[in-house]
Amino acid sequence: MIIQLWFCIVFSGFPAFSRSKTIDNEVYKLKKNRKSQTTGMSPGRCPYCGSSVVLRSADGIYKDNRAHTMLYVCSRYPACDAYVRAIPGTRMPIGSLANCRLRALRREAHQYFDRLYLSGIMSRNEAYEWLAVVLQAPLSQAHIGYLGEYYCQLVIEESKRLLENRHRVLTGRVPACRVTGGEVSAAG
Ligand SMILES: [Zn+2]
Repeated sequence: MIIQLWFCIVFSGFPAFSRSKTIDNEVYKLKKNRKSQTTGMSPGRCPYCGSSVVLRSADGIYKDNRAHTMLYVCSRYPACDAYVRAIPGTRMPIGSLANCRLRALRREAHQYFDRLYLSGIMSRNEAYEWLAVVLQAPLSQAHIGYLGEYYCQLVIEESKRLLENRHRVLTGRVPACRVTGGEVSAAG
């Protein structure tokens, strides 16, 4: 029953969008960046201005860097405000370089995504499986730190939809399942 409900909620209406060149470019960048991550390479060049990227302390960039965070930063910083954190104790970037707007979008996407398993809709592993489906990417590449603006917005929208659907189900405002085509009836 729980599994049936979960699949019903999760898969009842993924966005039917046509792939544009922009989306294909994002998928390409996602795969390319993921390859860098899995091989432990530095982020390479800044995706915004093409400048080299340096690994440095977050001192002077973070207001409070008592955690001694290290960042990969565009060498044109602060003229180019693109950077990404390194995983503590390693030289591994947690994602690709992002400017202020993209960093904010990734934070928001991660907050909504985290709520999917923190709220009990699904387990953490199931949430990452769901993310891979949304991103149309292998599970190993399902990480928000590598997403561009389009996929961040998509994760936010789809997460919101699941959270709102769950809220309606819990409050009894709508049937548990509303699947077009009448294949699945209301969960009882
Ligand atoms: Zn740059």
